[in-house]
Amino acid sequence: MTDVAHMKWWGWGVEGVGFHHEDKPAFAPFVRKAVGLDVSTPPAPVDDFSSVEVPASRLSDDAHTALTAIVGAGYALTDDLERVVHTYGKSIRDLLRLRAHLLPRVPDVVLYPADEAQVELIVSWAVENDAVLIPFGGGSNISGSLEPPVAEERVIASIDMGRLRKLIEIDEYSGLATFQAGVLGPDLEEQLGARGWTMGHYPDSFTHSSLGGWIATRSSGMQSDKYGDIAEITKGLRVVQPGGTLVIRPIPNASTGPSVREAILGSEGRLGIITEATVQVHRLPERREVIGYLFKDWESALVAMHDISTSDAAPSITRVSDARETGFSFATRKASTGISSKVTAGLMTVLEKRGWDLDEICLSFIGYEGSPSHVARQKSMVGSVIRKHGAVTVGKGPGALYDQKKFDTPYLRDFLLDRGAAADVSETAAPWSKLLPLYRNVRAAADGAYAQLGTEGWIMCHLSHSAHSGACLYFTFAFVHDGVDPIAQYDVVKSAIQSAFIESGGTLSHHHAVGTEHAPWLEADISAPGVGLIQGMFDAIDPGKNLNPGKII
Ligand code: FAD
Repeated sequence: MTDVAHMKWWGWGVEGVGFHHEDKPAFAPFVRKAVGLDVSTPPAPVDDFSSVEVPASRLSDDAHTALTAIVGAGYALTDDLERVVHTYGKSIRDLLRLRAHLLPRVPDVVLYPADEAQVELIVSWAVENDAVLIPFGGGSNISGSLEPPVAEERVIASIDMGRLRKLIEIDEYSGLATFQAGVLGPDLEEQLGARGWTMGHYPDSFTHSSLGGWIATRSSGMQSDKYGDIAEITKGLRVVQPGGTLVIRPIPNASTGPSVREAILGSEGRLGIITEATVQVHRLPERREVIGYLFKDWESALVAMHDISTSDAAPSITRVSDARETGFSFATRKASTGISSKVTAGLMTVLEKRGWDLDEICLSFIGYEGSPSHVARQKSMVGSVIRKHGAVTVGKGPGALYDQKKFDTPYLRDFLLDRGAAADVSETAAPWSKLLPLYRNVRAAADGAYAQLGTEGWIMCHLSHSAHSGACLYFTFAFVHDGVDPIAQYDVVKSAIQSAFIESGGTLSHHHAVGTEHAPWLEADISAPGVGLIQGMFDAIDPGKNLNPGKII
C-alpha cells in the first residue's frame, strides 16, 4: 500500500462522492425529455471488486525481486486492485469495460519510482528484459492512452508517477517553476499558491490529473485564453528514454531545428517517461471574476466570441454553451425559492417581450483576471462586443456557480451509467470560418447515428479555448443504451461525430490526445507523410517497442 491515492476502480473521483439530483428539481424532467430516461430508476449496483476475475500477473519472481531492488519494498505491486486501477483511463468505453469485467490484459506489475534515477533503472531493465512500460499520471485520459495491447505477451509494467510530486525550484525573476512530473493538479497549485504563484491550468479533470499526463496528452485548461494550453505553458523537460535522458532547457524561444520540445508534447509515453517539467507561472491575480451573459441564439453568440478573440480584451475564459447545453446548465441548478428565482423569472419575461425564443438562449461565461483596473478595462471592452450582438449581462452569480460545480460534473456520467445511459464527450478545433457549419454537421451526424440505433439521443455543445484563428467546440452526448452491447452502440455515435469533425475541417481532438480511441482518424487529420514522420520518431527512439506501444499509431 503506497500513499498515492487513486480514483474508484469503476468510475470517476473519490469513493463516497457522487452526483445527486434530489435538490435540483428541473433535472429529472430535463433528462426524461432529452433521452427518455427516468432518473428515479433504482441504480444498478456496482459489483464488489472481489467478484472481478483478473488475469494473473506474468511477472516472474526473479523480475519482481529485481524491480523491488530498484523502487524499494512495497513499491512494486502485483495485487489485483492495483493492476486493474492502472489498466484503463476514464472514458465511457473504459467505464463500461470495467463494469462488465472486460479485462483481457492488465499490467503485470505497478511500479512507483521515487526519483529520476529509479526511472532510468526501470527503463534500462525494460530494454534489457524486453518488457513494456506504460507511464501513469492520474489515469484520467479518455482516449485509450493507457490500456495494454490485448495481444501483448511481454511483461507489462505500469509506471505510476505519483511519488514524484515535488516543486523543485522557482526562478521567480523569470516566472519559471520546475516540478516533478507526477504532481496532481491540486497539489501543484497548492505548492505554487503557498509562494504567491499560479500556473493557471485548470482542466475539468484537474483534481485527478497530473502535470506529466497533461504534457503527454497536450491538455487544455479552462483559462487557456490567458495562460495558454499546456503546450505553451511547458518550457523545459527531462524525459527518460532508452538511449539516455533527454534534457530540454527552459528557453523562451529557440531556433534549434524542428522542435524536440513539441515532439514530447502529446507523445503519450511513446517517446519516454517525463520526470520533470519547467513551466511558466504567474503571480496570483489580484482580482478574478467570471461574468455570465445571455445570447439570443447560438449564431450571434459565435460571432461575438470571434469578435472578442480579435479585440484587445484578452479575457482568461471565453465560453458559450449552445441552447441545449444552456438548458442542461439550468436543469442542474439547485432549487431556488428566494430573490434569485424571481430575478431569473423577471429577466426571462423581459427577454420574451423583446422577441427572444427562450428555448434558443445561449449562456456564456467570460473570465477576467488581473489588477482591478485591468479587469474593469477588459470587462468594458467585452461589454461593447456583447451589446453589439444584443446579449445581456446576468452578473457574477452564474459564473460563481459554474466555478463551484465545474469539478463535480464528471460524477454525473457515473450517475447516468448506473441507470442505463451512456454519456461521453468529443471535442475539436477549427478556424472561425468553419465552426458553424461544423457544428451543424456534427449535430446531424449524431442524430443520424441515434436514428440508426433506433434510440433517443442527446448532443450539446460549448465553445471554449478561443485563439485568433479559431476555437474549440466541445460536444457532450448521451443515450440510453440497449444493455446488450453498449460499446458497439457508443462506437456508432462516437465514430459519426469524429468523422464529421474531419469532414468539416476540424481536428480529431483539440486537447484529448489520440490514444487508441482517435487513432483511426489520424491519417485523415495530418496526412500519410505526417503519420510517417511520427512513426519514424517512435522507431528511432524506441526500436524495441518497449514504450506504451499501440498508442497514437
Ligand atoms: P493519464 O491518464 O495517467 O495518462 C495519459 C497519457 O499520458 C498516457 O499515455 C500515459 O502513458 C501518459 N503519461 C502520463 N504521465 C506521463 C509521464 N510522466 N511521462 C510520459 N507519459 C506520461 N483534458 C483536458 O485537457 N482538459 C479538460 O478539461 C479535461 N477534462 C476532463 C474531464 C473528465 C471528466 C475526464 C475523465 C477527462 C478530462 N480530460 C481533460 C482528459 C484528461 O484529464 C487529460 O487527458 C489529462 O491530461 C490526462 O492526465 P493524467 O495525468 O490523468 O494522465
